[in-house]
Amino acid sequence: MTIATTFPRNPTASPTPVDVRAERMVDPGFGRVFTDHMAIAHYNAADGWHDLAIAPRQPLTVDPACAVLHYAQEIFEGLKAYRTADGGTALFRPEANARRFMASARRLAMPELPEELFVESCRALVRSEIDWIPDCDGGALYLRPFMIASEAFLGVKPSSDYIYMVLASSVGAYFKGGPKAVTIWASENYTRAAPGGTGAAKCGGNYAASLAAQAEAITKGCDQVVFLDAVERRYIEELGGMNVFFVFDDGSIATPPLSDTILAGITRDSLIALARDRGIAVREERYSLDQWRADAASGRLTEAFACGTAAVVTPIGAVKATSGDFTIGSGGPGQTSTALRAALVALQTGSAPDPHGWLDKL
Ligand SMILES: *Cc1c(COP(=O)(O)O)cnc(C)c1O
Repeated sequence: MTIATTFPRNPTASPTPVDVRAERMVDPGFGRVFTDHMAIAHYNAADGWHDLAIAPRQPLTVDPACAVLHYAQEIFEGLKAYRTADGGTALFRPEANARRFMASARRLAMPELPEELFVESCRALVRSEIDWIPDCDGGALYLRPFMIASEAFLGVKPSSDYIYMVLASSVGAYFKGGPKAVTIWASENYTRAAPGGTGAAKCGGNYAASLAAQAEAITKGCDQVVFLDAVERRYIEELGGMNVFFVFDDGSIATPPLSDTILAGITRDSLIALARDRGIAVREERYSLDQWRADAASGRLTEAFACGTAAVVTPIGAVKATSGDFTIGSGGPGQTSTALRAALVALQTGSAPDPHGWLDKL
């Protein structure tokens, strides 16, 4: 079996006209402006990964018995390509996404996509779609690698066939005019992930299971939901798609420790490193909802924020819960979250040094 490692480009016959593209990129928002091409590769046991390509983005034709449609055997990733201060383009830590994608594949009994193929698919797609990176503040090309089980079979077992694809989407700042603080709903009713489950894997099923809690958050007047641990229903774990940090009056910060119920965010990992670079003490420790409420009331807790690739750093201004609501600090963005966000964005866009070698320049 010869393993192909390049993604030959098969250009679309009907590219988006330049003026239409420019118009779509003025205010792209998040996740609704897609580029003309996608990366694609196929897998089966006999041929391994094959038929790699950068191909026109178009609807898929799948059998209605396709395994992913019934049993949700699916994993995904999310990462961004940024324009850098020197006029170039860079991906942020794509090999970290590649390794997490492999870990998610193992948990969902899917074939691992080799790290080189993952990174090369992202690089090839960014090169192909480079004109789709918006110039607006916070503009980036958001990449969505994902893998689906494509065997047409209703028996319950790992699929024999898989399709890997990468979509590219022009995105702007998640929040226009800088991040505003969000109000979050602490769900004491629903949980996201249980020990031994799939919480540490980036799979669509986790998101499907979080939607009722997210909908409940909206009915409570909140923007997002934060989940408690499934065993004691006491400790803060994470939001539906973002990790969480707490900032204390002694200048230290804390975040829940990684476990099989928490997704190992690359933004989380990067912020821990950037904070430590700045001499900030960072603890990875469990923190209960009751303690959070008490510390917010006493002033020991000064800020809290959520983090992830899409929105980078999002300040948490207030928490609502059946057991009682509370406000954090001033209720608006705090100094530490604002400074850490600025430091990360400066590094990602090449306007600050990159001591950890996180930028993958194209
Ligand atoms: C993707 C994701 C995150 C954030 O991960 P990043 O690598 O920082 O984007 C956090 N929690 C969940 C559940 C996620 O799916």
